[in-house]
Amino acid sequence: MYGTGLLKGMAITLKYFFSKKITVQYPEEMPQLQERFRGRLYIEFEKCIACGICTKTCPNDVLSLEDARDENTKKKKLISYTIDHQYCMFCNLCVENCPSHCLHFNHDFEMSKYNREDIKEVYHRPPEMDQVAPSAGTSDSGEANEPAPGLPEEALKKQKKIEALMTALDKNPVKVLSRYVENEEDAQILAGIIQADRSKAEKIVELMADDQDKARKVAVAFVNKEKKQRQSQGEGGEKHEHE
Ligand code: SF4
Ligand code: SF4
Repeated sequence: MYGTGLLKGMAITLKYFFSKKITVQYPEEMPQLQERFRGRLYIEFEKCIACGICTKTCPNDVLSLEDARDENTKKKKLISYTIDHQYCMFCNLCVENCPSHCLHFNHDFEMSKYNREDIKEVYHRPPEMDQVAPSAGTSDSGEANEPAPGLPEEALKKQKKIEALMTALDKNPVKVLSRYVENEEDAQILAGIIQADRSKAEKIVELMADDQDKARKVAVAFVNKEKKQRQSQGEGGEKHEHE
């Protein structure tokens, strides 16, 4: 019948018009990712046997490694492992073919960088791996804040920077935050927000260590949202008074 297609289209439009809005206010609000979402590829360095299957499997030459022969065991050992994320197409072939199950994708999708070279991650062999194998139960030294073995250099630097920023933020939040918002009043609002919600503090600090511009944008967005909320609460209060 003439116009059936149009009616069908209108019905779909109307259905979505009245259904619950699913727009996410990113970056203030993080999207809910599916369990199998493929974000950043990472390696469990200590589990890798340096077989090189992943480097041969990858269609885009994203992966490369450096190996050496272990004097004692005469087996190959991994010296360094490089992941050039910019060419990865998340096909999962490397993960599926790794015999040691040491390649995985995490949920980190915020991987943009200013420089191409910064996208590349290089993992170096941690010295602990060449020490005499500890007997069972002695590997846990119990020391806090020890960097995880196999973390790439860049990640270690970032981790230290984040810790330093978090300490500064805990000591004098308004002074630290005033660099990211327009004035001291906004810095005080933001300090209140992150004191009430530790996850927001962690997010801001991570951005401060990684991307100053983005940190500013998120800080301003947090403040503006808070101001709007206060304003609407104030208006609500006024209405009640008039009633
Ligand atoms: S997911 Fe695919 S493109 Fe990315 S590193 Fe693995 S094999 Fe290469
Ligand atoms: S396939 Fe797995 S075990 Fe082999 S080199 Fe690659 S990451 Fe290491």
